[in-house]
Parts: sequence; C-alpha cells; structure tokens
Amino acid sequence: MVAQVIDGKAFAAKVRAQVADKVAKLKEEHGITPGLAVVLVGEDPASQVYVRSKGKQTVEVGMNSYEHKLDAETSEQDLLALIDKLNNDPAVHGILVQLPLPKHLNEDLVINAINPAKDVDGFHISNVGLLATGQKAMVPCTPLGCLMMLRDHHGSLSGMDAVVIGRSNIVGKPMAQLLLGDSCTVTIAHSRTRNLPEVVRRADIVVAAVGRPEMVPGDWIKEGATVIDVGINRVERDGKTRLVGDVDYASASERAGAITPVPGGVGPMTIACLLANTLTACCRANGLPEPEGLTA
Ligand code: NDP
Repeated sequence: MVAQVIDGKAFAAKVRAQVADKVAKLKEEHGITPGLAVVLVGEDPASQVYVRSKGKQTVEVGMNSYEHKLDAETSEQDLLALIDKLNNDPAVHGILVQLPLPKHLNEDLVINAINPAKDVDGFHISNVGLLATGQKAMVPCTPLGCLMMLRDHHGSLSGMDAVVIGRSNIVGKPMAQLLLGDSCTVTIAHSRTRNLPEVVRRADIVVAAVGRPEMVPGDWIKEGATVIDVGINRVERDGKTRLVGDVDYASASERAGAITPVPGGVGPMTIACLLANTLTACCRANGLPEPEGLTA
C-alpha cells in the first residue's frame, strides 16, 4: 500500500481562507475586527521567526495584529501588567505569550494570568479543565490542527483505535482528549511505555509527538493506518540541514493508508488554527455563533 499524503500546507491555506471569509463578514455585518496580541520576551531566534510569521498571517486574514516585544530582562511584574492591560482591551480577542520564556519568568504563572476566554493557545488551566471535561474550551492549536485533518480524512473517528506517542501538555495530552471527545479508543504512550511497537501496531490512528527524529519505523504501523507526524527535528544529512518528523516517512508511507509529511503536514496547521481560535474567541466575546468547522 502506498499512503495518501495528507497535505497540511494546502489544508492550512483552506482554513486561512475560511477564516478570512468569516472575518470579512464580521466586519461587514457587525463592524467587528478580531485582534490577536502576541507577546515576545527576549530575542530567541526561533521565537522571533514564529512571531513574525504569526503577525504576517494574522494581517493576511484581515485581523488586527498587535505585537509586544519586550526585552529579555523584563520583570514578571511588568509582563503581568501588560497581560492585564490586554485582558481588559476590548480590541484584543486573543492573547498569545510566545514560549519558552526567559528562565526568571514563571511560565505557569504568566499563562494563567491570561483571561481564559482570550487564551488562544489553550494552555490556561481553565481551558485544560474544560477540554478534559468535554466543555467548550480554547483548544491548543497543534492538536486542533491534527484533529481537523483526521476529521477531514475520515469523517467520523468514532470507535477507532488511536495511539498518541508523547504526553506533553502542549501536544500529547490535549490530542488524546480531543480524540476521546471524538469517541476514539485512546492510548497515550510515553518514554516508559512497555513494548511500544506492539502498542503502535494496534492503532488505526497514530499521532507521533515525541521529538526524536524518525523514531517510529514503518513496521510499527498497521497496514492502512493513518499517521499524523507532529515531530519537527533538525538533522544533518549529506552535509545539509533537513527537517524530519518523528516517523520514518519512507518506510511508514509504504504501510500507512494516509500520512502527513514533514515539513508540510502538521506544521502549517498550527498557525492556521491560532487564527481560527482568535476568530472563535472574537465570536464568543460578541455573543455570535462560532465559526463552523473551525473548532473542536
Ligand atoms: P516534549 O519533549 O514536551 O514531549 C515529548 C514526549 O515524548 C514526552 O511525553 C516523552 O515521554 C515522549 N518520549 C520521549 N522519548 C520517547 C520514547 N523513546 N518513546 C516514547 N515516548 C517518548 O515534546 P512536545 O510534545 O512539545 O513536542 C513533540 C514534538 O512535536 C517535537 O518534535 C516538537 O518540535 C514538535 N512540535 C511540533 C509542533 C508543530 O507545530 N508541528 C508544535 C509543537 C511541537 P515522557 O513524558 O515519559 O518523558
């Protein structure tokens, strides 16, 4: 079997077009423009690239982008004061604090200072609890993107066996909650899981979020399974730097029914879902119906 490639780049473009369409309608019919505030503390080069990209795509879908760049020595008090200001700014519907923060800042404290209704990253403890109890939450962007691609490919996920490899708060745990919400039978695997190959071989859906280059070989994949590769790993090959996932794409794509490539799979969906979450937050704040197909 040769797997169908799930094209995350094309899917993300479709999501952005849907968001742009709904943003235009919000402006026209209600005079509302959704706004996303992104806070960057320090000069981490990767974070600077992400923040630039987020700002650019926010403007491209017709939303307002507010960038707050603070120097690396910013005190916790000053950062919390900025978050408080953004929480109370009616033009700001989404707030994202780019992680990681410099070591002297307490990430949990900072994230939990964001108004949960504006927490478009879905990391606030209230949103974690809402998701876990099956209530309306702001859902972390990367797992939301994975869910959208799975729903698009399969329609219903009900009754499918899903294995999520990785139990981080950012990807693994919320991914498992979302799959459970769609009535999959979910296993969460991690570094202490016994006989991981056998666990993965049971799965109709495999989500790999480990951070180890090409750790999952093709012979762990059940014939016809759907493989979502969240991993982004930079490796040296033939003197060049390349991005690879957590799954060995060449061998896995010979057994899977469908697979996301790296790059061009889950990656582009993350920012698209951030825009979708900002739109959702804006609709909720204004008592308007949520955008269909863009939420969990
Ligand atoms: P973390 O490092 O926070 O978590 C990794 C998880 O993998 C842990 O739960 C760990 O288990 C588990 N793990 C590590 N080694 C093994 C092993 N040998 N066997 C089984 N499980 C193992 O990573 P993240 O969740 O933040 O990210 C995972 C990957 O996804 C990274 O490559 C990251 O770059 C990428 N990523 C991509 C995004 C995108 O937009 N596409 C967004 C976010 C992340 P344990 O808990 O036991 O230590």
